[in-house]
Amino acid sequence: MKIRTAILSNQTGIKDWLKVINVNDSKVYKKPPKNCSNCGGHKIIGLEILGAHKSCILWECQKCQEKYLKFTKAYTRKLLNKLNDMSINLEDFMDIEYKEPN
Ligand SMILES: [Zn+2]
Repeated sequence: MKIRTAILSNQTGIKDWLKVINVNDSKVYKKPPKNCSNCGGHKIIGLEILGAHKSCILWECQKCQEKYLKFTKAYTRKLLNKLNDMSINLEDFMDIEYKEPN
């Protein structure tokens, strides 16, 4: 199964990451939904969010980026809210990436 990994930029004071991601469908899909209810697309992939969960946490339509729940809303929110405690900062990460080797 195809998985896309996303990094959410460091925003402060986010109380509910689920609202930031904007999942419209409140149904929980243990397996990726066959059709996207928004555009009718058939390519639904796993979406992994760095720092939230070690595997994919949501499903995403490749065509219109509509998101679907893999876990209950409460559990998804709990996993996403771990991003508030993340000690890595995206800017620090970039510095490491572009640092010249010694
Ligand atoms: Zn779609």
